[in-house]
Amino acid sequence: MVDKDRLEIVFRDHGFDDFKWVNPAEFQVRQWVRMKCEFGCPSYGRCGTCPPNVPHIEECRDFFAEYNTAVVFRIRQQFDKPEERGHWSRDVNKTLLEVERESFKAGNYKTFLLFMDECRLCRDCAGTREECYKPSEARPSAEALGVDVFSTVRNFGYPIQVLSEMTEEMNRYAFLLVE
Ligand code: SF4
Repeated sequence: MVDKDRLEIVFRDHGFDDFKWVNPAEFQVRQWVRMKCEFGCPSYGRCGTCPPNVPHIEECRDFFAEYNTAVVFRIRQQFDKPEERGHWSRDVNKTLLEVERESFKAGNYKTFLLFMDECRLCRDCAGTREECYKPSEARPSAEALGVDVFSTVRNFGYPIQVLSEMTEEMNRYAFLLVE
């Protein structure tokens, strides 16, 4: 049984105060998401936690089906200088790793984090799982595992929209599978 009260203290202590408990069975895993990674994303083949360094879509579905409990974190941010986004993403992902660690220490042995963004823990990514510089810390994003984040978080009652300018406020999302 997940001790939600204990974990909610951990979330807030790490600065994540906008979150919801959700059912991972409601994650919208779609083949088109993978297709968009393969064709059109500049990170394809360059990030150790993005396609093609991730399981097939069917394996991702099977993976999510093994959990009954997850948390979605809403993370809002706006930058006047878009080049600051990468550093910010790395810092957020590092803090999320601390939350994942605390969840594991609370007895949730299956805990698994989905980063808010592509990994970005290193300034220059090794590009493959085999050569990853921080294999114990690297995690995929939800998008990398085929999750249609737009429809998924909208179904959970959260806002998200396509941005036309890099300086617009972002609604970003990370997920923690907990059990
Ligand atoms: S930890 Fe570093 S090398 Fe590994 S996937 Fe992340 S950025 Fe790439």
